Amino acid sequence: MAEFLKCSGCGRVLFHTELQQSWKVCGHCGWHHRLSARERIEATFDPGSFEELDAELRSTDPLGFPEYADKLAAAEQKTGLRDAVVSGTAMLGGLPVCAAVSDFAFMGGSMGSVAGEKIVRTLERAAETRRAAIVFCASGGARMQEGMLSLMQLPKTIAGVQRCREAGVPYIAVFTDPTMAGVLASYASVADVILAEPRAMVGFAGARVSKQAGVGKVPDDFQMAEFAHKHGFIDRIVPRAEMRDVLAALVRILGARLYGG
Ligand SMILES: [Zn+2]
Repeated sequence: MAEFLKCSGCGRVLFHTELQQSWKVCGHCGWHHRLSARERIEATFDPGSFEELDAELRSTDPLGFPEYADKLAAAEQKTGLRDAVVSGTAMLGGLPVCAAVSDFAFMGGSMGSVAGEKIVRTLERAAETRRAAIVFCASGGARMQEGMLSLMQLPKTIAGVQRCREAGVPYIAVFTDPTMAGVLASYASVADVILAEPRAMVGFAGARVSKQAGVGKVPDDFQMAEFAHKHGFIDRIVPRAEMRDVLAALVRILGARLYGG
């Protein structure tokens, strides 16, 4: 991380040291800056408990899409990740869970074959091992460079959610900034409980596309987590500082049957 950044909320200069202590939440205005997947894992799960799985999965370039291979290589270089989702197992409040965390810095968190596969494996693992599933969303949507293969991840991830449902394991999704398009339209929206970080952008089409589509006047805040919450689409807005405790409580309560109450 750079030594300082300018707050997207209030414009103040924030130093690395103060941001680290607050997991990148502005101490002046409460703006939640984006976390990387690694930071999110550290901020959420019991210290040192995360074990990454499926780390070897790597996107190919199935369509030979112009510049896709270069973009993948650049994203790997920039983030140190192999795709936009990091998945594995972890402990939360002393209970074992299956987790998947998106990283917006990797090609906008877009969902191609690998991201979709990691989500599905996380959900299936949760169903098989009878643990709660927790998924942090951060994505602009499907990865257009993989065309139809990317769109196939929508029903595929939904089928993964169904596995959890059949096994009676809770699946909790957390919308972070942004949770959009193909991700919103698939596994994100069908969780048993949906939480969101304050002021996360949540929507299907972006504001510009919505305007071009001529849908008429829309409220200024219509793609904010708070708007979606007000209209019943999100169960609760949870500030980052409280996220760990809220998730742990949900896992304990919803998973009482799995974990021996
Ligand atoms: Zn601020």
